[in-house]
Amino acid sequence: LPLRVYLLSFFIGLVGVALFSVLLVRCLRVLRTGSRFAKICYVSFLLLFVALAYSLCYILFPCFDLSGTVLCRGSHSGKVIALTFDDGPNEPYTSQILDILKQAKVPATFFLVGKNIERYPALVQRMIREGHTVGNHSLDHASLIFMNRREILNEIEGWEKAMQGIALPLPKLFRAPHGWKTPWLVSILKEKGYSLIGWSRGVWDSDLPGVEVLQQRLTQKISNGEIILLHDGCDSRAGVDRSQTVAVLPETIRFYRQQGFQFTTLPHLLASSPP
Ligand SMILES: [Zn+2]
Repeated sequence: LPLRVYLLSFFIGLVGVALFSVLLVRCLRVLRTGSRFAKICYVSFLLLFVALAYSLCYILFPCFDLSGTVLCRGSHSGKVIALTFDDGPNEPYTSQILDILKQAKVPATFFLVGKNIERYPALVQRMIREGHTVGNHSLDHASLIFMNRREILNEIEGWEKAMQGIALPLPKLFRAPHGWKTPWLVSILKEKGYSLIGWSRGVWDSDLPGVEVLQQRLTQKISNGEIILLHDGCDSRAGVDRSQTVAVLPETIRFYRQQGFQFTTLPHLLASSPP
């Protein structure tokens, strides 16, 4: 999703906090002096407001999850990080990324879109052959939040079908399109044995902000256990420009290595995390 959408959500969030504060002050006053009916109305309205705000944050922010179901980073203890690439395969960029990773001996994790797997099965085989991990990013990258159980299962299992004959068994990693989640999606993933994966650092490379800006976003205050989100594709479309992601990669790898970081795939990163 574009950065401006997140900035807009942040602004709406601030307005929400301001409204909540006004409501809370008013509610406290009514609780002291108001009638019984006014007290019930205000408290109900306040609770509804909190529930709505919580639900929106839970759906829209990938790592907003008090239950700890979404895995958004690895352990803080070791200088290890994981690069993840979403929405591929998408040529020629996925091949270029694989070339860079191979040359630098960096393992990564690719969250593939089922429709793109069908377009480039040989690239997925190459990923696995070269020691990378792949994860489920749905069949066609449609938003799952308005889907019913059957439709969500179609997205998850459609991806599995696209992967059939390529390499099984695979780690059961799932990243929701746009990171948007619902309690029923989480429960279906649990049933199917998937871990829901988020990220700790998104740099909005899909906005094409320029290589220098990307470099800056990728290298500021990097910390142990980070899961870094990049894109080698865009939804289920073919040929979308990811040249900036490709261009920023060699220097980013060099920078992290200079800082003493090692790269690993998600299953390894998460295995070393505390429960
Ligand atoms: Zn995606």
